Amino acid sequence: MKDQRIVIGGGGGFIGGHLTAYFRDKGFTNIRAVDIKPFDEWHQCFEGVENLQLDLKQLDNCRRACEGATEVYNLAADMGGMGFIETHKAACMLSVLISTHMLVAAKDAGVKKFFYSSSACVYNADKQRDEDVTPLKEADAYPAMAEDGYGWEKLFTERMCRHFTEDYGLYTRVARFHNVYGPEGTWEGGREKAPAAISRKVILAKEAGNHDIEIWGDGKQTRSFMYIDDCTKGIDMIMHNDVPEPINLGSDELVTINQLVDIVEDIAGIKLKRHYKLDAPKGVNGRNSDNTKIKEYLGWAPSIRLRDGMEKTYRWIHDQYVAKYGKGAAAKASA
Ligand code: NAD
Repeated sequence: MKDQRIVIGGGGGFIGGHLTAYFRDKGFTNIRAVDIKPFDEWHQCFEGVENLQLDLKQLDNCRRACEGATEVYNLAADMGGMGFIETHKAACMLSVLISTHMLVAAKDAGVKKFFYSSSACVYNADKQRDEDVTPLKEADAYPAMAEDGYGWEKLFTERMCRHFTEDYGLYTRVARFHNVYGPEGTWEGGREKAPAAISRKVILAKEAGNHDIEIWGDGKQTRSFMYIDDCTKGIDMIMHNDVPEPINLGSDELVTINQLVDIVEDIAGIKLKRHYKLDAPKGVNGRNSDNTKIKEYLGWAPSIRLRDGMEKTYRWIHDQYVAKYGKGAAAKASA
C-alpha cells in the first residue's frame, strides 16, 4: 500500500518535515504535505511530495488537504517553546479551528486513519510543581488543569478525537509528545525550545568569546527530551497499532536544565558562567514521561540518549549559525 495517499498537516514544520522524510524513506510515493507557510520557510520541502500552501483553519482548505487521503497526520498548530506559548495563549487556542476542521474534513472524505499530535502540556499543573517529579501517567491529565491556552486546546482536541471515533466511527490515534528536539528544528526567533536555545547560546558565547550564558529560570527545573527519530518511529507505531487512547510519546531520561547545559558545554568543549533569569517564562517545575503504557501497547518506548541526540542537534545548529552569520560574526546574532 505504498501508493496510498498520506497527508501531513503542518508538513512544513519541524516534526511534519521529519515525518514526511520518514515515510518517503519507507518508500511511500503519494505523500501530501500541507502548511500555511510559504515554501521557502518550510523546515524541509521535498521533491516528489505534493506540497500545498493552505491555511488549515479554513474548512474548505482542510477538505482540499484531505481529498483522496487514506491516512491523515494532523501536526499543524500555532506553537513554540515556553517563550511563545506563555505569551500567545489566544493564538494557541485558535489552533482548535485547524483541529476541528481537519477532523470534519477527514470524516467526510472517508479517511481511514487520523493521527493527532497532542502534548504533555495537557497534564494537570498540580502534578508538576516539584522538580523531583513523579513521571506523568496518562491518567494524570484529569482532573483537568492543563497548561493555560496551548494545553487546553490539546486536551479539548483529544476529546474531540475520541468522540469522532465514538459517534462517527473515525479511527483516531493521539500521542502526547514530550519535548521533541533534533536537527531541522527552530533554533532562533522566539519559538525555539530549550535544547535549541541552549545550543544557540553556547555557540554564540563560544563565537563571541564572552563565556557567559543566560538561563531561563533557576536551571533546576526538570524535563525529558525526545530525539526526533524516536518521535517519527513512535508516530508510525501508534498509528498502526491498537492504541485506542491518548498515550505518552516521550523520553523518560529526566534532566535538569542545568544538566542539559552541562551536556551542551561538554559537546562544545567549553565552560560558561551561568546567569539565571528568574522572571523568564520557564513552564512547570518538573515534567517527565511515564512510559509504562506505551511499553505495554507497543513493546517499545523512545530510547535515544539525550547526549547522542544533542550531539547531532548541536552540530546542525552550529552549521546553521555559521552559514547565516559567518564564523566569528557572533555580534550580528541575537542572543
Ligand atoms: P512547528 O511549529 O515546527 O510545526 C507546526 C506547523 O504547523 C508549522 O509549520 C506551522 O506553519 C503550521 N501551521 C500553523 N498554523 C497553520 C495553519 N493554519 N494551517 C496550516 N499549517 C499551519 O511545530 P512542531 O514542533 O513540528 O510540532 C508539531 C506538532 O506537535 C504540533 O501540533 C505541536 O503542538 C505538537 N507538539 C510538539 C512538541 C515539540 O516539542 N516540538 C511537543 C508537544 C506537541
